[in-house]
Amino acid sequence: MAIKIKTDFSGLLSAMTSAERRIIKGISALAAKRGERAYIVGGFARDMLLGFPNFDIDCVVEGDACELAEELAKSLGGCHATINRKFHTAKIKKGNLTIDIASAREEKYAAAGELPSVRRSTIKNDVSRRDFTINAIYISINRDDFGKLSCEKTYLSDLKKGLIRVFHKNSFEDDPTRIFRAVRFAARFGFRIESFTKRFMQKALKDGMLKKISSFRAKRELAILLNEINAPEALEIAFSTGLAKAALPGIKKTAVKNLKTARLIWLDFFIYLQEQFDFFLYMLLVLQKDLSCARRREFVKTLTLKKKDRVALLFPKSSMNKILRRVLRNDPAWRVDADELRDEQLLFLVLLAMSKNPERGAKTEKRVMDYILRLKRKKPFHSSGELIRMGFPREKLGALAKEITSGRRGGKILSKSQEYGFLVRKLKKW
Ligand code: ATP
Ligand code: MG
Repeated sequence: MAIKIKTDFSGLLSAMTSAERRIIKGISALAAKRGERAYIVGGFARDMLLGFPNFDIDCVVEGDACELAEELAKSLGGCHATINRKFHTAKIKKGNLTIDIASAREEKYAAAGELPSVRRSTIKNDVSRRDFTINAIYISINRDDFGKLSCEKTYLSDLKKGLIRVFHKNSFEDDPTRIFRAVRFAARFGFRIESFTKRFMQKALKDGMLKKISSFRAKRELAILLNEINAPEALEIAFSTGLAKAALPGIKKTAVKNLKTARLIWLDFFIYLQEQFDFFLYMLLVLQKDLSCARRREFVKTLTLKKKDRVALLFPKSSMNKILRRVLRNDPAWRVDADELRDEQLLFLVLLAMSKNPERGAKTEKRVMDYILRLKRKKPFHSSGELIRMGFPREKLGALAKEITSGRRGGKILSKSQEYGFLVRKLKKW
């Protein structure tokens, strides 16, 4: 099926938000003043053509991107440019927008997986160093031909047909992170990886090219891939191309179905979750659901994660099942146990119940929802300091706090004075 794309950009600015307009106009004016030429490229150009929002403005200048970015940051005010002179790139954060400005350049890869050496060049040469044809379309923001779209016809036709295509057969050897990128775009847009590209990719994977990139870069790519709402589709494609076997050893194809169910659960909770909810961590929890403890430890070791994420992933299965049994019995203790779990783990708990049977799943979902929406915020009215002043020994505070929390969440303690009464009775018994 052909995809409808926008190709007339004479009214380019009117389709943008006022913040984007200010930035594009700023770059255009600065480039003109400096006698350089500037273009919108990469994902920003691609998504404009597809009519998708993108908060990452990718620009290329035929000139000095670092200097231009510094001037732009000054003129926008309240932000600064992070400069990478070696790669001729600069990044500016402005509100919810990121502006990536790069000098048009050529790249040479000395060895597979290593970072390339770069030298300044023209926009035409710059385009052919890019990962895929759909990311190599550029739109002028120069005054004389503002909004003019330029690229080989095939790039546009790939975008219309929904095809991910590399520029040459060694593309994945040069930079194996492109393997993750191909899967990401295929899943995100529902595109197909063109058949030669798929073969090049499979060969690179068979030749062990993923091992050529640092574990940090591999983990970052995996995180971006699994952070997408289409993570289940990405995993499906990762299985069909061999990426899953190389990047996620031990994970079985059944994980795709689990990820799809997990996404449905997440959609039910979505509006109630805090911004810091880590979708990637949630996907990892689901991915390793059916692994043995030893395999889980190995799996977690391959990912360079923060300690608190490792703790969440290695949370004992037996403890999780114990909490789940309590949820299903509606045992009041679970409402306090839940404090040990992060929201990502609570949603995973729903998935565990769901995979046992839908009825248990629905019951667990209702109770977890009630915990996240209402109960979680109910903590003891009295602070630790107040409890100590009342005469409670320090070492008993943890257990006492749990008891009060349970009373608050079970509806037995509704006010601070009621809590005080409870504490006085408790002290007398001691
Ligand atoms: P997203 O919407 O996920 O940000 P994107 O295509 O904008 O997708 P970026 O990582 O922001 O991806 O990169 C911007 C552009 O830089 C890409 O569109 C592509 O042209 C180029 N690019 C990025 N990474 C690579 C790479 N590994 N190899 C070649 N070109 C790349
Ligand atoms: Mg981008």
